[in-house]
Amino acid sequence: MYPNSFENLMLELHNLPGVGMKSAERMAFAILNWPKAQQEQLAQAIRQVSQLHACKICGNLCEGDICSICADSTRDQTQICVVQSEKDLYAIENLQEYHGLYHVLHGAINIQKGILPDHLNIEELEKRMTPQIKEVILALDSNAEGETTARYIALRLEGKALITKLASGLPFGGKLDYADARTLSKAFAGRQKENGQG
Ligand SMILES: [Zn+2]
Repeated sequence: MYPNSFENLMLELHNLPGVGMKSAERMAFAILNWPKAQQEQLAQAIRQVSQLHACKICGNLCEGDICSICADSTRDQTQICVVQSEKDLYAIENLQEYHGLYHVLHGAINIQKGILPDHLNIEELEKRMTPQIKEVILALDSNAEGETTARYIALRLEGKALITKLASGLPFGGKLDYADARTLSKAFAGRQKENGQG
């Protein structure tokens, strides 16, 4: 039997995606054998990440009130790219092809699971629709939830800007952040008008 504290560490590591009990055990032993200073750095990094919160404007991760993207006046202020998660935002940002603004929904509409438009960051998106905004790009997962959410937003924002969505290069059922950079880049460049009728 391991001491409780060691067992706890193992169980916490086991919560990480793709980490089985054996890997968790190996990681826990590695951390155990680190110098105290390094252990403290890991603990501190976790504490700091827990302080991150949603940007008041777009919902992206940030340390202050407003994220670094919203605060950057050199970005194209006429485009908003709507994504389901921060992870998706960074997947697009890493392409280094899009230089507009973002809006993070924090999920997608899923009636079965009780996730309704009111539970998502949609009202804030509507508030951002000033005449300055020329295009809203819906970069959502290509599955039923993503499609439903895209149609809902397109209807809600109708007439306020050009609404486009990514070309159907992503495999159906595919999560946006699982797409490789080339596929995502092609889907982004080939985006089409979303007419709201599906
Ligand atoms: Zn922001």
